[in-house]
Amino acid sequence: MSSPYDVVVIGGGMSGLMAAISLVEKGRNVAVISKGDPVCCLSTGCIDLFSRGDDPIGGIELLPDYHPYRLIGVERVKESLDIFQDIMRVAGLPYVGDLRVNRKILTPFGTDKITCLVPETMESADCDPDEYIHVISFKGLKDFYPSYITSGHVNSGYSIFDAGVSSTSAIAERFEDKDFLQEFISWLLNLSLPDGKIAFPAVLGTRSSMSIFNEISNRLERDIFEIPTIPPSIPGERLFNRFKNLFLEKGGSLYWGKEIASVEKLGGRIEAVTLSTRGRPTRVQGTLFILATGSFVSGGLYASMDDVRETVFDLETYLPGERKDWFNEDFFIPGHTIEKAGIRVDSTLRPLDSEFSNLFVCGSILAFTEVMKYGCGHGTAIATGVAAANMCEELL
Ligand SMILES: Cc1cc2nc3c(=O)[nH]c(=O)nc-3n(C[C@H](O)[C@H](O)[C@H](O)COP(=O)(O)OP(=O)(O)OC[C@H]3O[C@@H](n4cnc5c(N)ncnc54)[C@H](O)[C@@H]3O)c2cc1C
Repeated sequence: MSSPYDVVVIGGGMSGLMAAISLVEKGRNVAVISKGDPVCCLSTGCIDLFSRGDDPIGGIELLPDYHPYRLIGVERVKESLDIFQDIMRVAGLPYVGDLRVNRKILTPFGTDKITCLVPETMESADCDPDEYIHVISFKGLKDFYPSYITSGHVNSGYSIFDAGVSSTSAIAERFEDKDFLQEFISWLLNLSLPDGKIAFPAVLGTRSSMSIFNEISNRLERDIFEIPTIPPSIPGERLFNRFKNLFLEKGGSLYWGKEIASVEKLGGRIEAVTLSTRGRPTRVQGTLFILATGSFVSGGLYASMDDVRETVFDLETYLPGERKDWFNEDFFIPGHTIEKAGIRVDSTLRPLDSEFSNLFVCGSILAFTEVMKYGCGHGTAIATGVAAANMCEELL
C-alpha cells in the first residue's frame, strides 16, 4: 500500500535525520528509510565544523566555492548549527561551544582533537598543561588508554574501577542502574584524590548521561569530563539515538534496516521507492525526496575496480581524476583524492545532470565535502540537512 509522504528521506545519519527533524517540526509528514546505523555511531559525538584552524566559521569563508558549505552560504551554516544546539538543549543532551572558536578535547590516546561543538560532558576537557587531571578507567576496558593520557600530561594520575563488565556499551548500561552509580561514587569519594579535574572514558550512561554526569560532578564537587573512546563510541550513539527518537516522538515514520529495491519514476519525478522486505514489498510514495545515504563507509557510494556508483538512484557521480589517483594506502590521510568523489549539486542542493526535479541531496555523499581534509564531518551533515529541508519546505 502506498503512503503519501510530503518528504521521503533516504539515509538515517546526521544529515538525513537533521533534515527529517526540521521538516516534522514544521508539521510535515516525513518518512526516513535507512539500511542501518550511520557513521555517527563511530564518531566522538563532537561536531567538527571546520577543524583546520582556530576559527571554524572564518575557515569556511576560505574554502573553495564548490564546497557544500559555500554553496549554501555561511549564514545558513551558522543558523543550522544554532538550530542543532536548540534541538539538543530541549532534548536533554546539550552541546556547548562557540562557532568562532575551535576547542580541544582529549582523545583516548592522550592526543588532542580539534572540534567545535561538544556535548556538555566534554566541556571541561580543554585542560591547562600543568593542572592536575586524574583519569578513571575500568578493569578490562580495551578501548581507552589511561597510561597514554597520563604520560602526555605531566601532572596526572589514574585509577581503575571494576565494573564487572568490560565493553564500553556494557559499562555505559551499568551506569543506568542507580545502585551501581552510588557504588561507583562511593568508590571515587574513598580515593581522596588531589585537587583537580577527573576524566572518565565516555561511558557515563546511555539514555541518562546528563543526570549521571551531574550527579557525579555534584557529589565530588569537582570539574569532571568525558573522553571519547575508540569506536564504537557511546557519545556518538547517544547523539544518534536522541536524534532518531526525537524524529519518532514528533510523529515521523521510520523504515529501519531496509534497502531500496526499486525506484518508480514519472515525467522527470520520483514517484515512489520500493523497499526490499521479507514477504510483500513495501512501497513508499512521496512528493519530494532527499538523498542522504552517506559516502563509501555507509554505502551511499560504491567503488568497483573502474568506477564509483551512487547506489539508490544511479545519479551521475563526480570522480576526481584517473583511477590511479584514487589510490592511497592510508584511507584516513587528510586530502585523500577519493574524498572529493560524490554528487555535485547546485545551490538548492539539487543534483546536477539529473533527470529528477523533486530530489535534493545532503551530507557526506556530496562531492567536494572532503570531511577528513577539512575536519567538517557532522558540521556539513547538519548544515546541508537543514538546507535540504528548507528547500523542500519552499516547494511544499
Ligand atoms: C570513524 C569515523 C569517525 C568520525 N568522527 C567524527 C567526529 O568525531 N566528528 C565529526 O564531526 N565527524 C566525524 N566523522 C565524520 C561524520 O561522522 C560524517 O561525515 C557524518 O556523520 C556523515 O553523515 P551522513 O548523514 O552524511 O552519512 P552517514 O552517517 O554515512 O549516514 C548514511 C545513512 O544512510 C544509510 N544508507 C546508505 N545506503 C542506503 C540505501 N541504499 N538505502 C537506505 N539507506 C542507506 C546508511 O545505513 C546510513 O545510516 C567521522 C567519520 C568516521 C568514519
